[in-house]
Amino acid sequence: MTRIWPGETVGILGGGQLARMLALEARRMGYRIAILDPDPEGPAMQIADVRVPGAFDDPQAARSLAEKSDVITLDTEHVPAALLELIEAIKPVRPSADVLRIVQDRLEQRRFLEAQGVPQVRYAPVSDVEDLHAAAKVAGFPCVLKARRSGYDGKGQVRVGHPDELVGAWRSLGEAPAVMESFVDFEREISVLLARDLEGNLRFHPIAENVHRRHILHLTRVPARVPAQLASQAEELGARIASALGHIGMMAIELFVTGNDGLLVNEVAPRVHNSGHYSFGACVTSQFEQHVRAVCGLPLGDPSLLRPAVMVNLLGDIWRDSGPAWSTVLRHPTARLHLYGKRRVSPGRKMGHVLVLGEDADSASALAESIAAALERGTPPGGSTWT
Ligand code: AMP
Repeated sequence: MTRIWPGETVGILGGGQLARMLALEARRMGYRIAILDPDPEGPAMQIADVRVPGAFDDPQAARSLAEKSDVITLDTEHVPAALLELIEAIKPVRPSADVLRIVQDRLEQRRFLEAQGVPQVRYAPVSDVEDLHAAAKVAGFPCVLKARRSGYDGKGQVRVGHPDELVGAWRSLGEAPAVMESFVDFEREISVLLARDLEGNLRFHPIAENVHRRHILHLTRVPARVPAQLASQAEELGARIASALGHIGMMAIELFVTGNDGLLVNEVAPRVHNSGHYSFGACVTSQFEQHVRAVCGLPLGDPSLLRPAVMVNLLGDIWRDSGPAWSTVLRHPTARLHLYGKRRVSPGRKMGHVLVLGEDADSASALAESIAAALERGTPPGGSTWT
């Protein structure tokens, strides 16, 4: 069993905000960081010790990353599994190519969950126009058509309300292989955030309650408003999924809570996750440190919540000519500003987040929402005062 100690190098495939926060925590612990990403100025590249600019499907670049690292992990599941397999021969890769192969394809993921007896939405594969109509019969209307690969933040998915919209929806996805899912009229969305170490031990961060806007995570609230029994059922599902996959590292399992406290798994991400960002400031061990611990073969840390917390995402939409007035956030002593250092701004792009710690989640939520609304309005706080 290979353990990687502080002073050694953690290599990350992907240099976005998740890699940046992993790198921040890993560096605090004394690790060196190597990043492979096509963007030489991306969020994690800015703080890497070793930069390997290159595409995710470039075997040469991946080999170079592996040679410069002691363990490899990733900040995106959209890395070709074959490439991971290639570098598994050079250095330990956690999570493995086998995990990625299942998770990065929505259809494979659904079939895997079905084989594990995990409750999920009704679904059917779509590979041509004939399948479309048959799949819609399985899913019913409304339904959601999702591309099998490369989807995130609502990209690569369309809601279909009526049979007449089916062909248009399929075309809008570029007629890519897809999965049709029934649309769930859920009561709440939650995520289970767990870590699994090399020995198979599991630790759970507090369950996150998530609110999405336009299919993009808007806000996470912790503790989640779910009964204890439902929370343990959700954790049991997460444990079953992570153990059956033989996963190493953090994993996020997004679930819908339906009427009568039913649970349906929406999606599995074999990595740190946006809905776990609250842990970076609100927990004894953040999801980022926990992931580093797991992939380096260290004992897992304590994921307990220090204080109720609400995380709200900052999207590119609030950037106008001069950028947001950060005093809107910074004048609140219990609000923590996280910016990812992205140079290119576009609507819907995740640029940063604000974490608000509170006496209780209701007051944290009220403050987080008021900060988000002020940033959206673009109202600068009066003059040079902080009140
Ligand atoms: P996903 O990319 O699958 O995580 O979807 C992003 C968000 O879109 C989810 O968190 C939900 O808010 C919404 N969504 C996705 N699939 C469904 C579905 N089958 N029914 C209802 N809402 C969905």
